[in-house]
Amino acid sequence: GSGQAAVSNFKRKPVIVIVVGMAGSGKTTFMHRLVSHTHESNIRGYVMNLDPAVMTLPFGANIDIRDTVRYKEVMKQFNLGPNGGILTSLNLFATKFDEVVSVIEKRADQLDYVLVDTPGQIEIFTWSASGAIITEAFASTFPTVIAYVVDTPRSASPVTFMSNMLYACSILYKTRLPLVLAFNKIDVAQHQFALEWMEDFETFQAAVSADSSYSSNLAQSLSLVLDEFYKNLRSVGVSAVTGAGMKDFFNAIEASTDEYMETY
Ligand code: GDP
Ligand code: MG
Repeated sequence: GSGQAAVSNFKRKPVIVIVVGMAGSGKTTFMHRLVSHTHESNIRGYVMNLDPAVMTLPFGANIDIRDTVRYKEVMKQFNLGPNGGILTSLNLFATKFDEVVSVIEKRADQLDYVLVDTPGQIEIFTWSASGAIITEAFASTFPTVIAYVVDTPRSASPVTFMSNMLYACSILYKTRLPLVLAFNKIDVAQHQFALEWMEDFETFQAAVSADSSYSSNLAQSLSLVLDEFYKNLRSVGVSAVTGAGMKDFFNAIEASTDEYMETY
């Protein structure tokens, strides 16, 4: 690759797992499950919360943005609404992010994974300068994988599914990092339909056509674009509530990391 000098310092561990997904997809609950799984499986994890607005965190975080930035104070001080407050808090934290990375570097030999939760509203992290700065700071120092959490029951309609996949696709191209789709809430609805749609775009096109009123020419074309996108990722079904699929998830993270290290 282009960064030959950097390769020699680039270690295999810890792997950074950045958890993103639409609001309500279950990121925080999934994080909680991942943290429990690491404890049960003797996996050495480090936990980071980047959501300044979360009221109560169900898991213990080693690094918590709320220790550094007071979201409510930021809102008052800069006269901002909730989203502006979260964004500005993230910006303030991003200016100190080299310190965060060096804390992890010092502990690198004792860590397998760094699990990172992000703000509820996805675009605050994925379409902001600070989100990009934080992602880049991680990815230039450690192998970094994006875990894109999908609300499976709410993606059962083909058009909703497609919108969600296009968003995931945009994140893949924006970050250029390996991406794992975590089809969450499989305790409510199995993700088999998603696998079938991803496997065979004709099946998906048929589902879109059956979705009535919607003018589906665009959807038909987009499904071909997505077909290419699917080849670049791994997908697993999980339930943050029951704990189903945790092994599959970590296997997918490992396989993505191996691939990433090879092509680095
Ligand atoms: P976030 O906004 O992405 O962080 O989502 P949360 O973790 O706050 O979860 C949103 C809602 O989905 C909550 O009511 C959770 O209890 C629920 N939830 C999360 N994961 C699961 C799951 O695997 N199964 C079910 N049934 N509900 C879930
Ligand atoms: Mg959350």
